[in-house]
Amino acid sequence: MELCTYRVNITGTVQGVGFRPFIYALSQRYLLTGTVSNNSKGVEILLNTNTLTLKQFLVAIEYEYPPLASIEKIEHVEMEYQAFDDFKIIATKKIAKVTVNIPPDVSICSDCEKELFDPSNRRYRYPFITCTNCGVRYSIIYDLPYDRINTSMKFFEMCNVCEEEYSNPIDRRYHAQPIGCWECGPKLKLMNNMGLLLEDRINEVDKTVALLKDGNIVAVKGIGGYHLMCDASNAKAIANLRERKQRPTKPFAVMVKDIDMARELATISVEEEEFLTSKERPIVIVKMSSRKLEGIAPNMSKIGLFLPYTPLHLLILDRLNRPLVATSANITDEPICTSLEDLEKLQGVYDYVLEHDRDIVNGCDDSVLMVVNKQQIMLRRARGYAPMSIKLPYTLKHNVLALGANQKSTIAIGYDDQVILSPHIGDLNSIGSVEYYEKNIEILKRVYHFKEEVIVHDMHPNYESTKVAKSLVLRQAQELNNPSVTELVEVQHHYAHILGVMVEKGLEGKVFGVAFDGTGYGDDGNLWGGEFMVCDYEGYERVAHLDYFKLLGGAKAIKEPRRVALSFLFDLYGDDVLTLENATTKAFSKAELKTYFIAWEKGLNAPKSSSVGRLFDAVASLLGICQMMSFEGESAMMLEELYDASVTGYYTFGYKGAVIDVLPLIKDLLAENDTKVAISKFFHTLVEMIAVVYKKYNTLPLVLSGGVFQNKVLLGLLFDRFPHAIVPNLFPPNDGGIALGQVASILKQKGIE
Ligand SMILES: [Zn+2]
Ligand SMILES: [Zn+2]
Repeated sequence: MELCTYRVNITGTVQGVGFRPFIYALSQRYLLTGTVSNNSKGVEILLNTNTLTLKQFLVAIEYEYPPLASIEKIEHVEMEYQAFDDFKIIATKKIAKVTVNIPPDVSICSDCEKELFDPSNRRYRYPFITCTNCGVRYSIIYDLPYDRINTSMKFFEMCNVCEEEYSNPIDRRYHAQPIGCWECGPKLKLMNNMGLLLEDRINEVDKTVALLKDGNIVAVKGIGGYHLMCDASNAKAIANLRERKQRPTKPFAVMVKDIDMARELATISVEEEEFLTSKERPIVIVKMSSRKLEGIAPNMSKIGLFLPYTPLHLLILDRLNRPLVATSANITDEPICTSLEDLEKLQGVYDYVLEHDRDIVNGCDDSVLMVVNKQQIMLRRARGYAPMSIKLPYTLKHNVLALGANQKSTIAIGYDDQVILSPHIGDLNSIGSVEYYEKNIEILKRVYHFKEEVIVHDMHPNYESTKVAKSLVLRQAQELNNPSVTELVEVQHHYAHILGVMVEKGLEGKVFGVAFDGTGYGDDGNLWGGEFMVCDYEGYERVAHLDYFKLLGGAKAIKEPRRVALSFLFDLYGDDVLTLENATTKAFSKAELKTYFIAWEKGLNAPKSSSVGRLFDAVASLLGICQMMSFEGESAMMLEELYDASVTGYYTFGYKGAVIDVLPLIKDLLAENDTKVAISKFFHTLVEMIAVVYKKYNTLPLVLSGGVFQNKVLLGLLFDRFPHAIVPNLFPPNDGGIALGQVASILKQKGIE
C-alpha cells in the first residue's frame, strides 16, 4: 500500500499524562516513523503510513490511552509527503494561548504501590514515589505548560538515575514531573508542635505511627493541604480532637487501610466500592455497620470513609493497621492549611507535625460524594476531580470570570465553548477565607493565561463574592484609566443553580427547575430557597415558591432552628404562642418570646424567606430534635436519621396562584404524637409538593438542584417518584455549582457587547 504523510490532532486531557510516550510506544509497535509533540490545543502527531495501518493506529489510541488522559476528539488529515527516518518526541514549545486542561491530583497507581513495598526496589518505602500515571499535578503547578520548571518540584535537582528515567521515552517515568527518590526528591520531617525536629531521614513514618498509637494528634502534610490525624479507634484521642477543635458533633472522615477494613466498618455497595477504589479516591459517605468507632459521627448512622491515596498514607496505614481520623486541618471558617506557617495557628490542636519540603502551590481539599440511586452525588468537588473542564452548548462571545456564591465557593472561567471550574474553596466568612478566595482567582487566571471581559456574580449585595467582583472592576478601571473594560453582570442565585445542571447535561430547551436550598437573594430582595422555575438560557419564570416566612434575628436564624420554628408559630397562632407549650417555645425564656413576638409583628431584623432549608430547621425544632446547630446542615441530617420507610402518607399544604402555603403542614406536624411518623410524612410532603407543581409542566425535564438535595432520603424518594429527575453529578447540588451556572447565564444574554 502507498505510504502517505498524515497529521493527527488529539484534544482533551492529553498533556502531562504520559501521552507522548504512549504514542511513541505505539509507533514502535506499528513500525511507524514521524513525530509527536504538544501544542496549544493538545497533541499533534505526524506519521508516514498507509490508510490501513493509520486506522489500526487510531483505534489503538482510542482503546489504550493512558489512565490519566481523556480524549475529546481525534482528527486526521493527509498532508504533502514528508520523509521521516525514525519516530521522535519533540519537546514542548512555549505556548501562547492555553487551551489544554490541567490534570487533577490523583492517587498512587498500582505499579508504584508495588515498588513502594518491594525491598529490592530503590524507592522501597519512599513516601513520594510517583510515575507518569499517578500522583500530584494541580497542587504543585505554578504555570502551564506542565513541566517540572513550572511546579514546586523545580527546587529538587534530579539525581542521575532519576534523570535517566525521566528522559527515557519507554520508561514509565518518562517526563513524570514530580519524579524523585531517596537521593534527590522531597523528604519528611517530624516535629513537635513547637517546631522542634524529632528524628530525621530514616524512621519518620514508624515514629508517626507510634505517636498515633499513643493517642496523639498528628498534623500530616498531604497533597493539597494538611490533615489532622488520630487513631479512630481511640475514643479519648477523638474526644481530645473534638475539644481542641471546638467541634462537638460534626462527623470526621476516616481513612481506612483498604476496602476490607472499610467493610468492617460499613455496608458498601458495588458503586460505593468503585468510588472508594477509583483513582480519584474521594471520601464516600456510607452506612455504618458497627458502632465500633464511637465519637466519629455521634448520633449518625453514616460515616465518610476513604482509602489512602498517597504513598505516605499507604506507609502510615500499613504500619498502623487501624482506621485513622483524617480531617482537613483548618481553623473554623478558614481555608485548609497549606503551609507550616498557616498550620501554626493550630498549634494548640495538634501534638506533632509530619512535614515535608515540597511546597503546596494550590490548596485542594479532599472530595466528598455519596451514591443515591446508583448515581454519584458530589458533596465537595476538589482533589481528584478539580480543576475540571466542561463543554458549553454554545460559544461564548467574551471571556467570563464567574465568582460563585458565598458558601462552598468555587470560581469558574469561561472562554470559547468551555468552562474551567475551580476546586471547592470554602465559605467566605472570614478575612482569611476571602484572601484565599482571591488567591484562587489569581491562580486560575495565571495558570490559564486568562483575561476576563465579563465578570458574573451573585445578586446578593452583601456576598463577599459580589464585593470582590466590584473591587476587581474598580481596580482594572483605575489601572487602565478606563471605566468600561470589564462588564459586571449579576445573576439570580437559584437560576444559576438550575443553569449549572443544564450545562452539565447538555439540556438546551426549557426545563422545569426545582431549587431548594438554604437561602439565596431573590429578585424582590427577599431570601429565596423554595423555588420552582421554568428556565432556559435566556431567562426564567418563577412559577411557584414557598410562601414567605420571617427569619427572626436575620443571620442568627440560620444557626438556630428554634427561631424559624417560632416564626411559623407566630404565623399560625399570633400572641397565643406566649402561652403555648411545645419543644420550640420551651427553647426560649418568656421574656425572649415576648421580644421576638414584637420583632415578628413589626418585621424588625426579620427578613422574609421562602427557604426549604429553613423549613427543615423549623420541623427539627418543633419536633424537639434540634434547637441550635453546631454545624451547617445538622438539623436535616438528624431528620434523615429518624426517617422510617414503613410510614406512608403526607401532610396537607396550600397551593394557590404561585404560592405554596406550608402552615397546614406545620399544624399537622404539631398534632402528631410519633416523631418518626411526623418526620417521614414531612419528607413525603416535600415530594408531593414537587409533584403537584410539576403536574402542569410535566412535558419539560425535571431538574433538581440546591443544597437541600444533598439529603439522601429526600433525593431517594424523589428518584422513586420521578425516575427521570435530573440532578448534577459532576459538581455538588449546593452552592459549589453556582459559578458554572453563572457562566452559562451569559450564553444567550443580550446586551453584552
Ligand atoms: Zn505510579
Ligand atoms: Zn533521584
